[in-house]
Amino acid sequence: MKVIRFFIIAFTCFCLQITAQDSIFPINFIVGKQSNTNLTSQYNLIPAVEDAFNKMQRDALKEGISIQIVSAYRSFKRQQSIFLKKYKKYKQKGLSEKQTLTKITEYSTIPGTSRHHWGTDIDIVQQLTKMPRNLLVENNYSSEGSFCPMKQWMDQNAYKYGFYLVYTENKNRTGFKYEPWHYSYAPISKKILQKFIIENNKGNILPIIKQAGINIEIPFYSNYIQTHVKGINPLLLEF
Ligand SMILES: [Zn+2]
Repeated sequence: MKVIRFFIIAFTCFCLQITAQDSIFPINFIVGKQSNTNLTSQYNLIPAVEDAFNKMQRDALKEGISIQIVSAYRSFKRQQSIFLKKYKKYKQKGLSEKQTLTKITEYSTIPGTSRHHWGTDIDIVQQLTKMPRNLLVENNYSSEGSFCPMKQWMDQNAYKYGFYLVYTENKNRTGFKYEPWHYSYAPISKKILQKFIIENNKGNILPIIKQAGINIEIPFYSNYIQTHVKGINPLLLEF
């Protein structure tokens, strides 16, 4: 009897957890389609993410480093327009369907799969009196780059505030290229990714993408989920 009771309790807890996750992160939110009324007004982040960022920003400033967010929340619609613009450009250059999708997904996500839909991920720069012309460029963050002091500070401290690089410089990592500017607030984004994977396994994500006029074959999509969506810093994949 005790064993049965244990299983009933464990099962109930499991169901409650799933329900709680469902209510906090409904599928429309995960794919960037829900109005962002629950996000902060300044950066469009989940409030706990913005609190953690503000604390990190204040502490960095005490050491003379000014961290600025240049991109945070992005809606499905916005990602769709970025995607379709690139799609048109590469198609006009004569690339095949597969080559086009491969080229776009070097840096850009398929709408509905962007971590920027979640209000947990940010692209950051160091605020300087003289800013480089192009901001989100790998060289700016290298040892000779303008943002090197911030990058070094982040390497040593970001984790203390819950922030981790997503697309790390690791030859074994697949998917998106190295993005030294893109950080994620792990305590929440890990939960959203987990929910994304559950919804994706149920087959609920691809139809939303297709509804938006983006026609992606299942083999390409499945491979993209494996290499790109899961091709991230392993610390953001520990559920
Ligand atoms: Zn980003």
